[in-house]
Amino acid sequence: MSALLRSFRPVINQDECRKCGLCYTYCPEGSIANIDGNYAVDYRHCKGCGVCSNECPVKAITMDREKAGE
Ligand code: SF4
Ligand code: SF4
Repeated sequence: MSALLRSFRPVINQDECRKCGLCYTYCPEGSIANIDGNYAVDYRHCKGCGVCSNECPVKAITMDREKAGE
């Protein structure tokens, strides 16, 4: 999946994240990885659907608009 087909990308604020794993559990694309207890988005597969952002109980995931050319 090319990032060009995605209008928004989820960005995890690691300072706000409570490591609950809900984003990891609910992502329909399996695009959130648990790396040594920290959660990170795999942008190669993320579709930008926003499910992770909606499910995060502390609103630690913002959906940022993709910039052209990135
Ligand atoms: S935006 Fe959708 S596809 Fe991307 S990480 Fe979040 S839940 Fe997964
Ligand atoms: S749902 Fe939110 S608080 Fe929980 S692991 Fe994901 S980013 Fe962190």
